[in-house]
Amino acid sequence: MIAYLERFDSIPSSENQEYDDITTLSDGLEIQGSIDYRSTTTTSAGKDFGGMQFSQPLAVIKPASSDDIVSVVKLASRSQHLRVAARGNGHSINGQAMAHRGLVIDMNAMDKNNNNNNANNNKIQVYYFAGGDFGGAAACVDVCGGALWGDVLRKCVKGYGLAPRSWTDYLDLTVGGTLSNAGVSGQAFRYGPQTENVVEMEIVTGKGEVVVCSHSQNCDLFFGVLGGLGQFGIITRARVLLQPAPQMVRWIRVVYSEFSDFTQDAEFLVSIGEGGDSFDYVEGFMFVNSDDPVNGWASIPLDDPEQEFDPCFLPSSSGPVLYCLEVALHYNHGQSSTVDMVVERLLRELNFCEGLRFEVDLSYMDFLMRVNRAEHQARKSGIWDAPHPWLNMFISKSNIAEFDRLVFKKILKHGVGGPILVYPLIRNKWDNRTSVVLPEGDDDIFYLVALLRFSPKGTQVEESIAQNREIVKCCIRNGFDFKLYLPHYESKEEWKRHFGDKWTTFVERKDKFDPLAILAPGQKIFTRNS
Ligand code: FAD
Repeated sequence: MIAYLERFDSIPSSENQEYDDITTLSDGLEIQGSIDYRSTTTTSAGKDFGGMQFSQPLAVIKPASSDDIVSVVKLASRSQHLRVAARGNGHSINGQAMAHRGLVIDMNAMDKNNNNNNANNNKIQVYYFAGGDFGGAAACVDVCGGALWGDVLRKCVKGYGLAPRSWTDYLDLTVGGTLSNAGVSGQAFRYGPQTENVVEMEIVTGKGEVVVCSHSQNCDLFFGVLGGLGQFGIITRARVLLQPAPQMVRWIRVVYSEFSDFTQDAEFLVSIGEGGDSFDYVEGFMFVNSDDPVNGWASIPLDDPEQEFDPCFLPSSSGPVLYCLEVALHYNHGQSSTVDMVVERLLRELNFCEGLRFEVDLSYMDFLMRVNRAEHQARKSGIWDAPHPWLNMFISKSNIAEFDRLVFKKILKHGVGGPILVYPLIRNKWDNRTSVVLPEGDDDIFYLVALLRFSPKGTQVEESIAQNREIVKCCIRNGFDFKLYLPHYESKEEWKRHFGDKWTTFVERKDKFDPLAILAPGQKIFTRNS
């Protein structure tokens, strides 16, 4: 289909900038995909999962190919003001995938267009990598930047018995969206974040050039784009490393009353697990020591009505909050006795509260889709569509005990109306050449802390945002070594501070790959140059 953007009928004469942009658009954009400027489409592209920002674009482009994206970027570069945002699945919290009165590119539509047009899409190939981290042969899959990770999982497992190695907890996120941040879950201690599990990408840069990049080819663009918040180019294709997919998973939760026991065990598991001799997945939570149905004991037992949380097993010394270590072990049918042995051997080493252990066996796909199942419930109750003032941070191991004392035990002692994740990650699994920003010290371990607030309504949203600010201020006041993950800042000064040593390189890469600052305006890092 050839789509043209027709001249808009009603051009607001008072808004000269908008007039210029619309005139530029109206001069004609010829693409194979489609352009949609109906207000229903632009209104939904003006919202995101956070539900706290709204920025309506002029039009939404559903590209059929990288060439379509090139046309859009080039069109924007000919205008004085137009900016372009790739939108993955719009699961950002603070408007990062929005383009106020600009153009939004619906990347998931590109994946759907590709699948309709190309039966060989997502073909698995085996490549030989000489030297480096991936020395040897490895299976990889080429996926569209707009593909949902859940679709990648289904195709790889069902078609080939293979699967990517590193995940996010929730899979209705796009490949390009998570690679632009990091992509972290309980496998990252072993394989690094998703940004460490991609070996080649095709990018449309802010100059409208199509560039293939990897560790050895156009590596400045490759590393810049990974964790680059969409600033240097639009990821149209990624080559993702695969491993054999297990059939089953044993999913286990154990409870701690002491933070020091929890962190000691979590750090022990991720440290021995680097080489493979541990669980295949390690995460953790903080929860409230009460019968609060959302934040308390009831949030811990897994999908099994037989398993109940009995607080009698808690020591009398327990404080206002408790901790849960969540682990999982992969196995195949016929190996359940070996799994029992390995699980018992590993759990024997841990210091959790006896009697507070919960477990289920489920298929590998069901395990990875666990948050997608929770989404159905959350949609029914309306909390999926409510605002989500989330806060995500990386905090150095040397400050995590003090963070527990000041933040978990005091500021958050009543919970946040959703999960509070806290789990260790290993620094040497994160390549420092990417744009991802980590705590600055040289601790080998740092923690992900995520406040996944689910139920605030009305004034509670303001209160939650204020509480997030209070936590960040507390970290600054106490000199904690931390960085925001999925960051959101309003001023260049704050961004500069966020990137620290990486700021100069970040700016140089921007000048090189998107000199007019057309891309990803919703991140509010750079202003448009004409
Ligand atoms: P969007 O929000 O649409 O885009 C994010 C940014 O990337 C924007 O700046 C956009 O312009 C840019 N972008 C999008 N596509 C491309 C592309 N193809 N090329 C270049 N730039 C692009 N994160 C984790 O790490 N681990 C988790 O376990 C995790 N769980 C989550 C669970 C839920 C329920 C939600 C809502 C989010 C979760 N996230 C998690 C956060 C998630 O990684 C981010 O929201 C991320 O932005 C991906 O979402 P998206 O694909 O919808 O991207």
